[in-house]
Amino acid sequence: MKSRILYVEDEIKTALSVKQGLEENGFDVHLAGDGALGLKLIESQKFDLYILDYILPGEENGLNLCKAIRSQGILAPVLFLTALDSTQDKVTVLDAGADDYLVKPFEFKELLARIKSLLRRSSNDWNISNILSYADLELNMNTRQALRQGKQIELTAREFKLLEWMMKNKERVISKTEIEKNVWNIFHDTSSNVVEVYINFLRKKIDKGFDPKLIHTLIGQGYILKSSE
Ligand code: CA
Repeated sequence: MKSRILYVEDEIKTALSVKQGLEENGFDVHLAGDGALGLKLIESQKFDLYILDYILPGEENGLNLCKAIRSQGILAPVLFLTALDSTQDKVTVLDAGADDYLVKPFEFKELLARIKSLLRRSSNDWNISNILSYADLELNMNTRQALRQGKQIELTAREFKLLEWMMKNKERVISKTEIEKNVWNIFHDTSSNVVEVYINFLRKKIDKGFDPKLIHTLIGQGYILKSSE
């Protein structure tokens, strides 16, 4: 699969020539000409790597975009492009969560080499970072973050544990007793409604406002995590 790159750049000539060069090298490149559009794409879509120009027209500069990426829990690499070349600027972008920094004007082949190296590194991180995924739902077992359709979902520790267990047992009918045993270590307390309560909490967080629904109740049998009926 092609790596998806978001490139936020207001100089149209640079933007188009970089886009073309990257596409010729097998990347899927999405352009945003200003910070507002960049932010919209960051919030609504998933990319494997972000290239951000520092100075952009409008309210959002590259630095704000980088902070927005990190504050959403996105771990994909961020590469900065900028005309500014001072140590302080480098420190500022790296502090904001950027992984690398290239000063304009740059040679395309250097940009390409940096991108390849960042993607190689991040795919290694991704492997060790232990992601559990089902349909469009992802749980990062290292950072304890949950994402659905790329949107971060806040879960309590118990909700996380319940969802983790359900994802490990996806597409299988799981009984209330099994959940009590595996998620709560409750063995004989059949009067407890803790499972129903937490299933409802999870539904509100991972299914409400999303399609398709993933958590289904099978009356008299239990629950199933499944992306279709
Ligand atoms: Ca610029």
